[in-house]
Amino acid sequence: MISFGPVPSRRLGKSLGINNIPGDKICTYACIYCQVGATRHYTLDRQSFYSPEQIFAAVEKHLGKLQQMPDYLTFVPNGEPTLDIHLEESISLLKKIGIPIAVITNASLLGDAQVRDALSLADWVSVKVDANDEAVWKKINRPHPKLTFESYKEGLLTFASAYRGLLATETMMVDGVNDGAELLQRNASLIATINPATAYISIPTRPPAMRSVKKPDEAAINRAYQIYTGAGLHSEMLLGFEGSDTGFTGDAREDILNMSAVHPIREETMGEILRKNGAESGLPDQLIRENVIREVIYQDKKFWIRNFSGK
Ligand code: SF4
Repeated sequence: MISFGPVPSRRLGKSLGINNIPGDKICTYACIYCQVGATRHYTLDRQSFYSPEQIFAAVEKHLGKLQQMPDYLTFVPNGEPTLDIHLEESISLLKKIGIPIAVITNASLLGDAQVRDALSLADWVSVKVDANDEAVWKKINRPHPKLTFESYKEGLLTFASAYRGLLATETMMVDGVNDGAELLQRNASLIATINPATAYISIPTRPPAMRSVKKPDEAAINRAYQIYTGAGLHSEMLLGFEGSDTGFTGDAREDILNMSAVHPIREETMGEILRKNGAESGLPDQLIRENVIREVIYQDKKFWIRNFSGK
């Protein structure tokens, strides 16, 4: 199936997925947390999978069956979308439909000018930045042996400096691998150079390729968020909850659950939510007892974050 969905996505609204890699996963990485399973086809060679016309026809047919158009057409295949040698032509053709195009890439092939040219046509691109440290990059992303850390970083910086669309980064956090404060500081400084619209922090929410992979806890996610925002980044968490920063809706419980899924709530903001919604001061403690939020401390300050440990 070339197209699927639309699926609701906090980043992209309603997104029609495009799987431009047929069959088993084909990737340049074998991330320890990969939720598509083990990498059986490990390659750096860009290949021909579907023709751009096949992709266009599949998407056009799919759209014809929908009542409402999606917000994005998103390349999110079984593997790395830029391994598709026809990506540029496929994006060019799909743009004729008039729906913005998004691509979620691991960024490993951005050293290739043709890959950068293809992605430059997309309206929204998310690049993976899990580790600004060669040893940790190798440990978490398990890149193809011919990929070098230098070429990955150079490609990332070259692409980001020229890209005119909406750029996002995604950092998948794995307990004990890339969640240390010093590593996160280094990540944050690399991401700040790239200057994305949003630096997302995510956790594995489906079974990972390696059973040893564990999610960090809420305190570690809060620390990552504080370090990223401290570096001047606009950051959001992707914890497997939809959530949105909708402000004050009159329902304090909903506001707390929504906001704490996107970013940790600081003490002053929590006070404001309770006050503006006329809610009881004991509501945060009640939500902690229900196991839906957790209180975490960072640099002597209190924050509340969605409880994802039990999921
Ligand atoms: S880059 Fe994506 S598809 Fe490839 S191994 Fe990593 S998580 Fe899986």
